[in-house]
Amino acid sequence: MINYISTRNSNISVKASEAVLRGQASDGGLFVPQNLEDLKIDYHRITNCDDFKSMAAAVWNLFLDDYGSGVITELVKKSYEGKFSSEKVTPLVKVNGAYVLELYHGPTSAFKDVALQALPNLLTKARSMNGVTDEIMILTATSGDTGSAALSGFSGVDGTSIVVFYPDGGISETQRLQMVTDAGKNTSACAIRGNFDDAQNGVKKIFREMPRPAEGISLSSANSINIGRLVPQIVYYFSAYRQLLDMGSIKDGDLVDFVVPTGNFGDIMAGFFARCMGLPVRRLVCASNKNDVLTEFINTGHYNRIREFHKTTSPSMDILISSNLERLLYYICGEENTASYMKQLEETGEYQISDAELKAIQDVFSAACATDAEGAAAIKDVFESENYLMDTHTSIAWSCLDKYERKEGVPSVVLSTASPYKFCASVLSALGLEVSDSDRKNMEVCHEYTKAEIPAGLADIWDKEILHNDLINPKEMMSYVVEKSMKSR
Ligand SMILES: *Cc1c(COP(=O)(O)O)cnc(C)c1O
Repeated sequence: MINYISTRNSNISVKASEAVLRGQASDGGLFVPQNLEDLKIDYHRITNCDDFKSMAAAVWNLFLDDYGSGVITELVKKSYEGKFSSEKVTPLVKVNGAYVLELYHGPTSAFKDVALQALPNLLTKARSMNGVTDEIMILTATSGDTGSAALSGFSGVDGTSIVVFYPDGGISETQRLQMVTDAGKNTSACAIRGNFDDAQNGVKKIFREMPRPAEGISLSSANSINIGRLVPQIVYYFSAYRQLLDMGSIKDGDLVDFVVPTGNFGDIMAGFFARCMGLPVRRLVCASNKNDVLTEFINTGHYNRIREFHKTTSPSMDILISSNLERLLYYICGEENTASYMKQLEETGEYQISDAELKAIQDVFSAACATDAEGAAAIKDVFESENYLMDTHTSIAWSCLDKYERKEGVPSVVLSTASPYKFCASVLSALGLEVSDSDRKNMEVCHEYTKAEIPAGLADIWDKEILHNDLINPKEMMSYVVEKSMKSR
């Protein structure tokens, strides 16, 4: 059985289902499998599977071993059947000398769906397995993508409810409509008179002061520090490899590079796990936007969050503290050093790892960053030469293709994390087209010009009924949650 321990203290040790249920360890660390050797398998066991769902079942069985394989098969089916518009779930496309792994064919058109369609099922099962009778109420503050993906994942799931807070006027019209039209009986989306930090601080305060807002209701979080969000993301690295084999682009055993647009380091950490399981991966390339804290860290070993925060056209990567990096630190530096680095980060905003530790990271990871202008040029370039349309996050990764040491004969796979239609205004501007104040108009113009298909979940939001109208002050968040939890009982 796989032992999950805190990255800061291996004496805190739980089974997989408990790690999913708790989200974060009690000492502030993150849960990780204690020994990487336990994950080493013959990768053919996964790449030989018939389809994405059987690959998912094989990966989940390894990491979430106390659920049992019968349960896992059922949960995988519930999570993915009929939810994704591509039969392959995460299709791979060849584009001008590289490959793009499209992760955005889920209900909200961002890669977070792959994990957030799964997490509710993993969480409710973990609850019954561990004898928890409380209903779970998910609280999330969002600056865009996470909120809609979490609402869609938890919508209608028995034994759960979800409240999402977003900054009034601080997200795009498309993102707002995705949330306020959600029809689940157990969902709430509420605007805050304030910015994202106000929403985030409000949520943190509620977790601290009121973990059980009503009798029979426990709070939980849907953010990417939960191991139940990471495990489903490992699957598409194997799926990409299998698709390269099926296309005849590689021979079995050949090495592959993955270039990952990174924010909280969750997506690329899943790639690290895939590599540890034995998948032939040469380099994992961490691509950042102008918020280049990870580029500096991977190139110098110095993590420094004391720097200017840039608002970019790839907002889901605008992050200065990449939480999931702590999981990598545990495997490279051990629990004591990890605990010490995290303490330094909290107290001083920076830390420096040793040369040996840096070398161990650089054996696997490369890092590069690109500006908004470089990303925009990539969107225009690739569309005009290949007739292929990328979003603003994918284009940052694409721009990093010629900023790391590629190797002759090793294919590069760029992870594509969002549909271009989620970020229409920036995409239009990159293409040199006129941008309107109306997202709806932008979507139409983008479609007319590129003929790229609009995802079903985005095409019809304009005419859907608005079901969530709440707008409150940050001070009222706590009473709002109490009121919702009384209703959900
Ligand atoms: C969340 C997100 C990312 C960053 O992924 P991490 O796992 O946080 O590194 C990149 N692109 C998009 C579109 C996202 O929504």
